[in-house]
Amino acid sequence: MSQHFDAVVIGTGQGGSPLAVRLAESGKRTAVIERHLFGGTCVNVGCTPTKTYVASARAAHVARTAAKYGVDIGGDITIDMARVKARKDEVIGASRDGIEQWLRGTPNVTVFKGHGRFTGPRALAIRSDDGATQDIHADMIFINTGTRATVPHIDGLGGLDGVPYLTNSSILELTDVPAHLVIVGASYIALEFGQMFRRFGSRVTLLVRGDRILTREDEDVARAMQDVLAREGVEFRFGAEAKRVQKTSGGLRIELGDEAIDASHLLFATGRTPNTDNLGLEHAGIAVNRHGLIDVDGELRTKAEGVWAIGDVNGRGAFTHTSWNDYEIVAANLLDGESRSVDTRIMTYAVFVDPPFARVGMSEAEVRKDGRAALIATMPMTRVGRARERGETDGFMKALVDADTKRILGAAIYGIEGDEVIHTFVDIMNADAPYTTLQRAMHVHPTVSELVPTLLDGLKPLV
Ligand SMILES: Cc1cc2nc3c(=O)[nH]c(=O)nc-3n(C[C@H](O)[C@H](O)[C@H](O)COP(=O)(O)OP(=O)(O)OC[C@H]3O[C@@H](n4cnc5c(N)ncnc54)[C@H](O)[C@@H]3O)c2cc1C
Repeated sequence: MSQHFDAVVIGTGQGGSPLAVRLAESGKRTAVIERHLFGGTCVNVGCTPTKTYVASARAAHVARTAAKYGVDIGGDITIDMARVKARKDEVIGASRDGIEQWLRGTPNVTVFKGHGRFTGPRALAIRSDDGATQDIHADMIFINTGTRATVPHIDGLGGLDGVPYLTNSSILELTDVPAHLVIVGASYIALEFGQMFRRFGSRVTLLVRGDRILTREDEDVARAMQDVLAREGVEFRFGAEAKRVQKTSGGLRIELGDEAIDASHLLFATGRTPNTDNLGLEHAGIAVNRHGLIDVDGELRTKAEGVWAIGDVNGRGAFTHTSWNDYEIVAANLLDGESRSVDTRIMTYAVFVDPPFARVGMSEAEVRKDGRAALIATMPMTRVGRARERGETDGFMKALVDADTKRILGAAIYGIEGDEVIHTFVDIMNADAPYTTLQRAMHVHPTVSELVPTLLDGLKPLV
């Protein structure tokens, strides 16, 4: 017999869990379905584990470069990958358990462990690992099923006799440092793994299909980041596409057409595939677009009555904070009588290489394409006292302002503390205040944020 709930959340990603708790606290009988690990990608194989590795890699880097600060460390700097992993496992284990306990401990929440699949417009079957099936139906269903790593079709890959490969999930299980890690990809996941494994001591080669990294960012950002990573020893092969892979006595060989690269490990960081393919969406009357994403309106409603899609699966963001913000929008509209929309959200994100890169709003290329009258200011990090004191002056800051409205259109910071400093721009943009508000604010000395008003003093017409 089918069990009835007021609401069902499929997936315990970054938006799903808090939404389930809010719905339950408002008195709704709520079911949560999770087929794998509580907390989803971010907690288990995304943000949290990678940032613990970034921290370990930075510790190694600081130790290796300590002499320039007058600090001598006797002996070689070595990495114990098993301990790096153990530290990561402890951090993510605590988060994962915390989320599971939070859900199970919330009155009105029923947790189902298994794969959820639509069987009708607001009906689902849940299949647990032991094969048992349970039917449920609900007045409201929220899809928060996230994405998984995309693995391209390449001759010789995978299977029982094929060449083994790594994704963002399996690379986090390694207990030895790879001798030569080849990474296919040039976006933020590839770059973060590239720098961290280089700092762990691997030889790292990035295979980049085009002629530059970070194709969504301005060229000056991409070039500056490439220079920093190359200086640390990360190798880049541009115009390189893996055509075939094969096992060799020493590891594996990746054929790129006329030439080949020998490697010990191969990581794919070639995009994400939405978890919509085994969801029975056709039974709910929900179509996916050509990327496999579920189209939603500004309030994150799908085309099917009573069904919402939040998080990466709706294509309106691909970050933990966008998934969390989706939850806030849905909860505010359903439970607090508000009328919030994702359409007015100002996009912001960071790439956690070291130094980090962070952006909000439009890039310079986007503003140029848009064609409106704009002002631009840039400042190298060498002008930032804090950066000089830290001996880390790579990168620059950039701001773009609408010449007529004086509103900030976008900002990019590639430099130390960029992932924090970007929020001075985020907040002023969300306040819809003119750039002069930020320009006239007094900031603490000596910080990176202190130079943001000075950056804005240098605004000039974008020509
Ligand atoms: C390597 C890496 C690093 C990242 N670093 C960052 C970062 O630094 N900052 C940042 O903001 N973002 C980062 N991200 C992105 C971030 O992890 C995601 O945007 C975030 O997890 C939001 O995902 P979500 O809420 O859409 O769902 P997810 O977190 O993907 O969770 C979906 C859940 O649904 C479950 N599920 C799927 N299908 C079903 C089904 N049919 N039935 C039941 N359960 C199901 C899955 O098991 C999973 O638990 C990173 C991602 C990766 C891969």
